[in-house]
Amino acid sequence: MSMELPRFSFGIGDRFGHEGEAQLAAFEALADEGVVVTPVWNKSNREHRICGTRPESVRAEAEAAVQARGWRHGCFVDADHVGLATLEPFLASSDFFTIDVADAMGQPVAEAEAEAFAMRHAERDGWLRVPGLVDPLAADREVALRVARKSLAAVREAGRIFRRIAEHKGEGGFVAEVSMDETDAPQTPIELWFILRGLAEEGVRVQTIAPRFSGAFHKGVDYVGDPARFEAEFEADTRIARHAASSLGLPRSLKLSVHSGSDKFALYPRIRSVLARTGAGVHVKTAGTTWLEELIGLAEAGGDGLELCMEFWRGALARIDELCAPYANVVAIDRGGLPSVEELARWDGERFARALRHEPRCLEYDRDLRQLLHVSFKLAAEAGPRFTAALVRHRATIAPNVTHNLLVRHLRPLFAGLR
Ligand SMILES: [Zn+2]
Repeated sequence: MSMELPRFSFGIGDRFGHEGEAQLAAFEALADEGVVVTPVWNKSNREHRICGTRPESVRAEAEAAVQARGWRHGCFVDADHVGLATLEPFLASSDFFTIDVADAMGQPVAEAEAEAFAMRHAERDGWLRVPGLVDPLAADREVALRVARKSLAAVREAGRIFRRIAEHKGEGGFVAEVSMDETDAPQTPIELWFILRGLAEEGVRVQTIAPRFSGAFHKGVDYVGDPARFEAEFEADTRIARHAASSLGLPRSLKLSVHSGSDKFALYPRIRSVLARTGAGVHVKTAGTTWLEELIGLAEAGGDGLELCMEFWRGALARIDELCAPYANVVAIDRGGLPSVEELARWDGERFARALRHEPRCLEYDRDLRQLLHVSFKLAAEAGPRFTAALVRHRATIAPNVTHNLLVRHLRPLFAGLR
């Protein structure tokens, strides 16, 4: 029996490991409404390094939350964006691995190998016909060769990483995702097709694949780009993944993964309508915006909770370059518009919460402040027990924010009512 990723799954981050139960409460509410979505707790090596945590802590949190709430629909723990160099510490505690081959995209391969790939995988008559897509896609030798030159090194790398994980967990003992989203150029549907052919040939039992879509996916804020264009791309890719699953011998659970960087609200109705139209599934991965809900809850608590928020804001402004550096290509902050320390000192907790909470229609919502705080979780890690004790003390204002955010802003818009 192979471990299979269900049709609907949703990746959640929880950098400090205190909100597992509040997160799970949102999935429970949706399940009560008739749609089961499988939670996947994800945390990358980068986040572990900045927080000073180890991968086992995510497994422990997930298990404690599942136990405490009696959740019966399963969950996964995702080793997010791992490569050969970072894989080892995740092997014991993860059962979902996001095999990141973005760095290998565009790396050179021997021309003879690329030629041979194109020979093997080009369509005989030069056209790929995908059920559900009106127009056939050009898939002749030339197209295949172009994809091979760009992506074959990444396909091979995915094979090496997959086999290394399989040595430890057994082939069917984990869910494999392949991600290429952190590259500069979006992949076209036909590129995705040839990449899937390559992965099938490598023996990678990929269940979900994260291409780079067009548009900007900055952390914690909404999509910047043309949602209609995204929808067309997402639908083509979805149908290609389905076709690949049935014709290339890849797992039948194969589906797309959208590495959203959180809060791509403009895309949710688009994703949802493609799922309704195609009957396909999806994995949507979000970043650690739970930490922002913790700040909102602390601010609403006032007193020492609000004071911590102010302290983090002072630190964030003072260390902005350092905090943004690891996230340079996934944040776009207009520094001139950030509120000063003096201005913030005049705010009460509700005002702070309104600036931070992702309600685009609220006039006081501030996407620059939100992005900066999103990448400033290192400050909370440095505050250590002072911060985590506050999380426990102010659970009453934090937990409802965590649950509400996940259920009302994410899960329902994506999944409610889907059959
Ligand atoms: Zn990603």
